This record gives sequence, C-alpha cells and structure tokens, in this order.
Amino acid sequence: MTTTESAPASTTRWTAQWKELYEEVITTGLCTGCAGCVVTCPHDVIGYEHEEGKYKPFHIEEELGLDNCTHGEKGCTTCTRACPRFRQWEESADMHLFGRVREPNEMSGIWRQLLLTRASDKTQHDRGQDGGFVTAMLTWLLKNDYIEGAMVSGVEPDDAWKAKPVLVRTPDEVLATAGSRYTYCANPLALKEAKELGLTKLALVGMGCQTSAPPVMWDRKAGKVGKPFVFNIGLLCSKTFDDAIFPELFEAKYGLKKADMVKMNIKGAFQIWMKDGSFHEINLKECHQWTREGCKNCPDFAAEHSDIATGGIGKDNDWTLTIVRTELGEEVITRMIADGVIESRPAQEDEVAMKLLRTLSIVSRRRWPQWADGAPAVGVPEPKKKVDGAAPAAH
Ligand SMILES: Cc1cc2nc3c(=O)[nH]c(=O)nc-3n(C[C@H](O)[C@H](O)[C@H](O)COP(=O)(O)OP(=O)(O)OC[C@H]3O[C@@H](n4cnc5c(N)ncnc54)[C@H](O)[C@@H]3O)c2cc1C
Ligand code: SF4
Ligand code: SF4
Repeated sequence: MTTTESAPASTTRWTAQWKELYEEVITTGLCTGCAGCVVTCPHDVIGYEHEEGKYKPFHIEEELGLDNCTHGEKGCTTCTRACPRFRQWEESADMHLFGRVREPNEMSGIWRQLLLTRASDKTQHDRGQDGGFVTAMLTWLLKNDYIEGAMVSGVEPDDAWKAKPVLVRTPDEVLATAGSRYTYCANPLALKEAKELGLTKLALVGMGCQTSAPPVMWDRKAGKVGKPFVFNIGLLCSKTFDDAIFPELFEAKYGLKKADMVKMNIKGAFQIWMKDGSFHEINLKECHQWTREGCKNCPDFAAEHSDIATGGIGKDNDWTLTIVRTELGEEVITRMIADGVIESRPAQEDEVAMKLLRTLSIVSRRRWPQWADGAPAVGVPEPKKKVDGAAPAAH
C-alpha cells in the first residue's frame, strides 16, 4: 500500500480522492461500512445499501467507472478526509482528540475515567441493554441543550430485529431505540434527515468504526460536514453478525424465530430470550461463520475515539462499563452525576471487566492487517498460544 501522504492535511497537500479510497480501503477489506464517506460527500455521488450482505459504499456516477470520481479528478477530497480507515487514521483521531498518540501499552485507547454506571430512572434502566446509561445520557444531553437530536439505531416497523439508522429528538424516541441489535447499523446515515431539518447539534451513537469518523474529519479538515457532530458515544464491539444468522442458524438449527425473540445479549455465548419465556444460549463458535465481512479486519474494540465509550463486560449485567475519554465527556458525566440521573462507581472495582477490556482490545488489534498503516498494531503482544482457531467471546 502506498502511504505517500500523511495526516494531518495541514502539513502536506492532501490530494487523495475516491480513487484512492476505493483502491486502499474499499477493495482491500479495511472498509467497515461506517458510511462516513457517504454522508460527507458534498456532491452526493456515494451510495450505500443498508441491506443484508451489503453495508458498503459505492460510486453512483459511472462516468469514469466505479473506481474513480469526476469530482475527485477536479480536486474534491472530502471522502478520504472523512474515512476512519484511510491511511494514518488512528494517529489522526488521537492527535485531534487528545493532542498525542496512544502509548504502545494503551490497548483500549486514551481515557480519563473508568466507571460503572446505570440510569437512576427505572424505565431507562430496564429498557437499556446494560445499565441504560446511553439512554440516560442522550435524554440528559437533549434536556440540557447540548444536542438537538441523536443518530442512533432503530428498527424497521415490520421487523423488530432489522436495525436501521434513525434520528431521535425526544426522550420518548430515545427510549424507543434503547437496547442492542447485533447486526450492523450505519447510524451516521441519519445525518441526512437531521440536515434536512436544519439541526446543527447532534450526538452520534455508534461502534468504534463510526465514532472515529468525526475526529478524523476534523483533523483532516473535511470542512463544515464535520460540524454537526458535537458528542460521540461509542459502543464497545468485537463484531457484528450478518442478518442471515437469524434464518440460517437461530431458526434453521434451533427453531428460534426472529419474530418471537424479545431480547438478546452476548455474554460469553449468544443469549436469546423468547416471547414464551424460554431462554437459550448458543455457543459463539457456532456463530462465527456469520461474522459480517466489514468487521473482520477491525482493530477497535473499545471505541477509542468517542467522547465516552460504553460496554457490557464485567460481572454485573445491569451496569454499563463507561470509559470517559475527552474533556467534554468528563464535563457531561460530572454534571449527570451531580444531577442524580445516573449512579456511578469506579470500574476498577470489577477486576473481570478490567481484564476483559484489555484482552478483547488486544484480540481486535491483532486482526489489523500487517500491510496497512502500522499504528493500530503498535505495542500489541504476540499471542501466547493458539486457541484452536477460536475467536474470543464478544463480551
Ligand atoms: C453491534 C454491537 C456489538 C457490541 N459488542 C459489545 C462487546 O463485544 N462488548 C461489550 O462490552 N459491549 C458491546 N456492545 C455494547 C453494549 O451492547 C451496549 O450497547 C452498551 O453497553 C451500552 O449499554 P446501555 O444499557 O448503556 O445502552 P442503551 O441505553 O441500551 O443504548 C444503546 C444504544 O445503542 C444503539 N444501538 C443498538 N444497536 C445498535 C447497532 N447495531 N448499531 C449502532 N447502534 C446501536 C441504540 O440505538 C441505543 O442508542 C455492543 C453493542 C452493539 C450494538
Ligand atoms: S470505512 Fe467508512 S468512510 Fe471509509 S470507505 Fe468504508 S464506509 Fe466509507
Ligand atoms: S467490529 Fe464493531 S467496531 Fe469494528 S467494524 Fe465491526 S461493527 Fe465496527
């Protein structure tokens, strides 16, 4: 791979356009499908299909073929400036958010505080995937005028497990989209609706592949497209699954129909609760063949470029592991605690969570290809012994 240009754009003339994005990210397996390039393209020539087996950008104009762009040939470079997998993206986002790159030993990225939190409001807590912290935070951000809306994951009206990006603007809408779907949802796509409504202050909820996009855009000076992202909430993530896992594994082998599922979680196993009250655990090894293509090279477990990252690892089911990363994140969490909308305690009390955070971050970093930019692999220890080709438990 050629890495003749380096971020930030201010030091070297940045000329890379769709042609380079296509060649270095989309066709090499680095593309996560985050849709950062799609929502920032000023000419609206990057399409995206939010469908089973797709979740990838493509060029709409065929004038120069699928691998080149007429606007790019005339000097437009927005898509590569917005892509959180293009060239030195980790350094770029680190420098912008923290003023330094992570130390080799900082496997889960740079942080200020590690907490376990949960919503004080019972409904938010009950509806949330773990502690309902994300739901409580979005509600608080809306009420306190930090944001006018948030880009989150809702579901299709006729399918409670087909995730789709949605814009939420009220506490009720936030509550309706709580909980985790383990298939992909490119939440940045909800930016289009927010722009049409003239909203300028938005939160993005998303896995690391998505929450790295805004800081990369800001660092590489992608322009006003990056302005509406004012708060980034990360979701810890080992992988997402193809939508086909529902019919091909859960239903075909275990008779578990998607329409009858009420809740799912991944805690060492794929856990599924059904309408009839039954509970099922499916070995994660069985699920691996449905790992979504865009996740296979992803090195970012801990959503390392969010303001606050959240996860469900640890010994307690109903608390959210909360990694406070930026000054803004710290300001918000301090105010939320003072307002009594969340309970919190130091995460270091949960040794299991601390160990898993490091282990799973290392496991994800090991997936990053050797031929790509070296930063995500810096400091990553070699595996001690091979574990029968098995991938790790997601939580
Ligand atoms: C695909 C996926 C994989 C994950 N993997 C891990 C993991 O391996 N280890 C771990 O510790 N934690 C993981 N998490 C995070 C965990 O499941 C919780 O989302 C997190 O702990 C926050 O819990 P909460 O109760 O505070 O959030 P809630 O209050 O329930 O809010 C959750 C938010 O996530 C959004 N969301 C739900 N599904 C998706 C989706 N598919 N894509 C984008 N946004 C979505 C919702 O819209 C909502 O805003 C994963 C989450 C997802 C979505
Ligand atoms: S990783 Fe995201 S921004 Fe980069 S090419 Fe893929 S969809 Fe576009
Ligand atoms: S593993 Fe998670 S963070 Fe990485 S590309 Fe897949 S969905 Fe995104």
